Amino acid sequence: MTPVHPFFASDLALDADLRLQLWQKLSTEIERYLRQVANAPVAPKLDAPALRRALGEFDFATGMPPAEAMQFAVAGLWEHQVHTAHPRYFGLFNPAPTTMGVVADALVAAFNPQLAAWSHNPFAAEVEQHLIAAVAAKFGYPEDAADGVFTSGGAEANHTALLCALTHAFPEYGRRGAAALLRPPAIYVGTQSHHSMIKAARLCGLGTEAVRVLEVDDSLRLRAEDVAKALACDRTAGLEPLLVVATLGTTGTGVLDRVAELAELAEREHLWLHADAAWGGMAAIVPELRPAIEGIERADSITFDAHKSLSVPMGAGMLLTRHRDILERTFRVNEDYMPRDAAGLREAGVDPFAHSMQWSRRFIGLKLFLSLAVAGWDGYAAVLRHQTSMGHLLREEATAAGWRIVNETPLPLVCLAAPGPDGDTPRVVEPIARAAVASGQVWVSVAALPRGRAAIRCCITNYRTGPQDVAALVQSLNQARGQARR
Ligand SMILES: *Cc1c(COP(=O)(O)O)cnc(C)c1O
Repeated sequence: MTPVHPFFASDLALDADLRLQLWQKLSTEIERYLRQVANAPVAPKLDAPALRRALGEFDFATGMPPAEAMQFAVAGLWEHQVHTAHPRYFGLFNPAPTTMGVVADALVAAFNPQLAAWSHNPFAAEVEQHLIAAVAAKFGYPEDAADGVFTSGGAEANHTALLCALTHAFPEYGRRGAAALLRPPAIYVGTQSHHSMIKAARLCGLGTEAVRVLEVDDSLRLRAEDVAKALACDRTAGLEPLLVVATLGTTGTGVLDRVAELAELAEREHLWLHADAAWGGMAAIVPELRPAIEGIERADSITFDAHKSLSVPMGAGMLLTRHRDILERTFRVNEDYMPRDAAGLREAGVDPFAHSMQWSRRFIGLKLFLSLAVAGWDGYAAVLRHQTSMGHLLREEATAAGWRIVNETPLPLVCLAAPGPDGDTPRVVEPIARAAVASGQVWVSVAALPRGRAAIRCCITNYRTGPQDVAALVQSLNQARGQARR
């Protein structure tokens, strides 16, 4: 490592010439990644000792040249991560980021706007409000009732939804906390729903036992009548049914709950209906997919992650609601150190902190704003349509190769069972997925299914995935199946 240069420690902004060199190197490295990631193995070998040895060199006692430090990070990111930006990453809902999203995140880091009070950054606050309105309209929320907030991701959005539901059902909840709960609340989710709602129950002090995790039907969807039965039991037992979650695009299999049926039930039983459309919310943007989420506009709140199907860099979640005042009632706190210079300004907008569990907050919305401004809704619809068609192609090619499809969804997530009576057991599918990943050619995972079954989970999450990548996936899986059998 190059020896100390006192300059590096004395000026965190660095010298202007040095900075220019650094920006150039930065853009060169980013461009190199975009152009060459498709040639790298999708997943690296996991090598913790090598990684820790390299980090052991850093005792931070002295400084080092900036370009050298950056190079360490570039090499580490190349060598020690699953390349979610790879067109043959058929993985979790992690996108290849939009270029405009990368630009936005760089600008945000440099200008470092503070999204607590409106008056500190009206540009950022208004951009986000404008986007909230635009996305809420896509989901069919009425303009005069819709509201929302940007979150770090879907988990924070789900947590926010639960806090809103509690405030809605128990208006004293914010002030009196658990003492305001007249009866212990109960929450209804399906076995296929995301675990973040269970965590949210814990974080809200309700405890995980407040969550009723209900079996799904053969199509992997939560049945409204099962929720009705469970809540009737709970009422008899003295509990307060509070919230039901419709998952639109489950994480494991991409299946969409019948949200209209759950909306019927929620309206009849006075439950808060939360639609977790973290990934599957993409259906709101593609007209021919819209019927798959019909009824979502009746949900009291919606989780949607721009960092999943809209491909902006992590983390960019959204919580939308059709209760205009609920976020403010849930989150506003008045303290003396808060800037008040906008208080007298008649046209001042909402203070972001009063809608969020965060105070100092990054300008999350800019990466969606710039991506959407450049692509337009039509551009996004075309991209999502392409991904959807790659999903259909995968279904065709995998079926032709003897695989069996075990999930039913119009979205580009395909769960495959191997041929044979045990083809949908962990014993069979896990070694196949492991061998496919170890080949470095593709990345897939295993989805756990009800009743101890499992399938190989292949999601088209990258907008650059094309027919040749789908063909390579099927070929890799065929090979892995042959290897695993031996
Ligand atoms: C990913 C996901 C979440 C959590 O979102 P994060 O952005 O990862 O926090 C919640 N619900 C569903 C259905 C998801 O797929």
